[in-house]
Amino acid sequence: MLIHSFHIPKKIFILILIFLILISVTASIAFFYFYNSSQRNTLDNTNVPEVPIDVKVEEIPDDNKKDDSKKIIKWVDFNVTADALSKTANLDIESHQKQEEIKYNWIELLAYLACKNGGNFKNFKSSDLDNLVSKLQKGSTMEDLTSSMKYYNYYFESYSAVLGGMIGNYSIQVANTENSKTYEEKYGLKAFLPIAKNYSFSHYDDFGNSRSYGFKRVHLGNDLMGSIGTPVIAVESGIIEHLGWNQYGGWRIGIRSFDSKRYYYYAHLRKNHPYNNGLKEGMTVNAGDVIGYLGMTGYSIKENVNNINVPHLHFGMQLIFDESQVDSPNEIWIDVYQIIEFLKKNRSEVYMSNKETKDYNRKIDFKDSLSKADF
Ligand SMILES: [Zn+2]
Repeated sequence: MLIHSFHIPKKIFILILIFLILISVTASIAFFYFYNSSQRNTLDNTNVPEVPIDVKVEEIPDDNKKDDSKKIIKWVDFNVTADALSKTANLDIESHQKQEEIKYNWIELLAYLACKNGGNFKNFKSSDLDNLVSKLQKGSTMEDLTSSMKYYNYYFESYSAVLGGMIGNYSIQVANTENSKTYEEKYGLKAFLPIAKNYSFSHYDDFGNSRSYGFKRVHLGNDLMGSIGTPVIAVESGIIEHLGWNQYGGWRIGIRSFDSKRYYYYAHLRKNHPYNNGLKEGMTVNAGDVIGYLGMTGYSIKENVNNINVPHLHFGMQLIFDESQVDSPNEIWIDVYQIIEFLKKNRSEVYMSNKETKDYNRKIDFKDSLSKADF
């Protein structure tokens, strides 16, 4: 009797059975799918954050698009520390100087590390670099190691724009007689600190601080406080693009790198004698050349006025991935504080070369291997 009250008609029983089978099949498929995808993630993407922290990638490369020419980087948040710059630069330079079998490219190493730390070098771990080096030593290639890194190309291109002219071939004067100069070909750091050797300066990371002269804006560079007249040095070789008065920068000089991706801006140069004698727009300068003298001009529509309170060199670096980014609201200026710290190891020594004009010149001659013809 009791059994009868639980009797289920055969048709309904079959329907329930089919339903249960469908559910279990769906559940199994779902389980295997998620299990496999999580396995894949743990195997290939260990410690690789999906989205970089602190980095605005406005143009993410789309693998489906074949035309790469129109993807322009619109923003770079450069925060590579002086420590990471030094460590990777040393690997690059030593492996080239000693002609080791595996030659490192510091920009590749830094782009890989950026993928590991989400573009935030506050999280930089030396062990990440050591692990990378050991993988490369064991035969892995950068191509293999970075193929699954979504943002590797973005970081590589960004860092190439920032650091592309700092390490490479150059010739430097080794001996000097009355009539001849002897040069030696070298591979190494060929960018210089913008303050001449033996001149003191102080600075702190003031990028992004607010400024009120003219209109409310942020500080797009690094101020190097020093004495009036301190020789200012060209950080990288390039072509003088602007030389003259500017309401904000006072006497300023703007130099474009040979690959045209960097615009170096040196401002507030000395009243009455801002530039090294003879410099003009369109001229080529070499890294380490004396280009001008530290001062306090600027914040005035009228020329040659000292309206800056504390003598300093304003040093800025603008990145240009496309000429449309010049003189536009889309200018990309980066924080150069860590670069200045890094460049403290390479300073240009100077002497007074002209007692009449009181101009200074570099002591050791240097020729950049890059020239306009290479691009
Ligand atoms: Zn400044």
